[in-house]
Amino acid sequence: MYTVPKLDDYSPAALDRAVAELFSALDAETAALHSESDWKEFRDRWMARKNGVLTQVNDTWLKAAPKEAKRDVGQRVNELKARAEAAIEAAHEKIHASSAGARLERERLDITLPGIRRPIGVKHPVLRVQDEIVSVFKAMGYSVGEGPEVETDYYNFESLNFPPNHPARDTQDTLFIAGQERKPARERLLLRTHTSPVQIRSMEKLAPPLRIVIPGKVHRNDPLDATHSPVFHQVEGLAVDTNITFSDLKGTLDHAMKALFGSSVKTRFYPSFFPFTEPSADMQVSCIFCGGKGCRKCKFSGWIELLGCGMVDPNVFGFVKHNGYDSSKISGFAFGMGVERIAILKYEVEEIQLFYEGDVRFLEQFA
Ligand SMILES: [Zn+2]
Repeated sequence: MYTVPKLDDYSPAALDRAVAELFSALDAETAALHSESDWKEFRDRWMARKNGVLTQVNDTWLKAAPKEAKRDVGQRVNELKARAEAAIEAAHEKIHASSAGARLERERLDITLPGIRRPIGVKHPVLRVQDEIVSVFKAMGYSVGEGPEVETDYYNFESLNFPPNHPARDTQDTLFIAGQERKPARERLLLRTHTSPVQIRSMEKLAPPLRIVIPGKVHRNDPLDATHSPVFHQVEGLAVDTNITFSDLKGTLDHAMKALFGSSVKTRFYPSFFPFTEPSADMQVSCIFCGGKGCRKCKFSGWIELLGCGMVDPNVFGFVKHNGYDSSKISGFAFGMGVERIAILKYEVEEIQLFYEGDVRFLEQFA
């Protein structure tokens, strides 16, 4: 670092040498500046009023000069000051320009790079199958009904002909809302175990004839395994009119299964029990994998059990107070199917959990 030497010789040649030395020191120091803080340090070292290089030059050269040399020294000191000021200003500009350049470089945007592709979402396979089932029935003139997922005991059980303490309630492990012990049993809230309560709600609103499908989410206290989930989806159907018979039920469901699985699929009906239908049946379809010959998927029976159905129990109509649901004049059928069950068959999915895990690798297969 440059320090101001004392001068013994004040001849013009000696003065020129001293000044040249100082200039080259100034040039060397400005060349070594890289940052704003370097520059500030440099500026202060040269310009500080107290003990800056220029002050030192003034004190050691000009003040100490003999009278006859003062004019000569003074001229050179002024020149020096002007040059130092110019160098300091130029150095500042240079640092600014290069730091702005560095920032631009850092923030450089390559507009020729390909953009980030946003994958287009698709319908979830469960929703897709649910919509497909609904559209099959819509094409047969059914309308679509919806109802609350948090339901009262009355709509979920009682009005569907599940008497209090009836053992049929035990087949649907129910999730009740906590803290309702003081309410009368029929007002207690629960997560609906089926979409059937919407049957009653729909009949309360609409007079017969009625044809309605009810898709939606239902809940049961089932542990999660390959084919069961505590949350799943159902499509429930209800048709009420004069002279509706079991043949209408069979014909309707047979047509729907052919629409869903292909025209070669066959259906058959087995006696079953549900509190809200009489008679009740389980419907089976011919195995969609082997065509009925027998395979591992149908346990070599050639048939797969798919849904429950039956003729609406007259007691259920008795719970609808208005709107003319008089069981001596009208009749109807109802059915309910699990959407996941059908999706599992349609897409040959091994585990029901795959529908709820949100794993993109699974879901994008349906894109
Ligand atoms: Zn089979």
